[in-house]
Amino acid sequence: MQIEGSCHCAAVRFTVESHEPVPFMRCYCSICRKTAGTGGFAINLGAVHATLRVQGREHLSVYRARLDDGRESTGERHFCKRCGTALWLWDPTWPDLVHPHAGAIDTALPQPPSVTHMMLGSKPAWVASHIRPGDVSCDAYPDESLADWHLRNGQSF
Ligand SMILES: [Zn+2]
Ligand SMILES: [Zn+2]
Repeated sequence: MQIEGSCHCAAVRFTVESHEPVPFMRCYCSICRKTAGTGGFAINLGAVHATLRVQGREHLSVYRARLDDGRESTGERHFCKRCGTALWLWDPTWPDLVHPHAGAIDTALPQPPSVTHMMLGSKPAWVASHIRPGDVSCDAYPDESLADWHLRNGQSF
């Protein structure tokens, strides 16, 4: 399905084709939590990078996080430099994909039948994870990709 997104000040707008639009993957890592999810986690969707169309590209900036081992992350976190909204992650390691932040999407998204909680090892104690029966929880990365989760749950877009 095609999804539309924007930053809060609307200087940046985008559309992209997404086969993984169900917002089921909560990442509690410190980068997601601090840059895109002050409630404790961020949710990234899966989309096709070649279909990304951006208006207001001049208002974009890119953040490359410093990792624990001192290296710079290859992931390019795009955000609006006017209002600070986190918009999407693109990583040249997987150039065909782009990961829009669910919070920046204006299109109505499907409700997830279950949730995957990843990077729980980085979750501070004050964040309640609300893990329900049927959810997947991992201290680090899940074995299942965004695409595999959609396949297993019969979600095709
Ligand atoms: Zn903005
Ligand atoms: Zn994360």
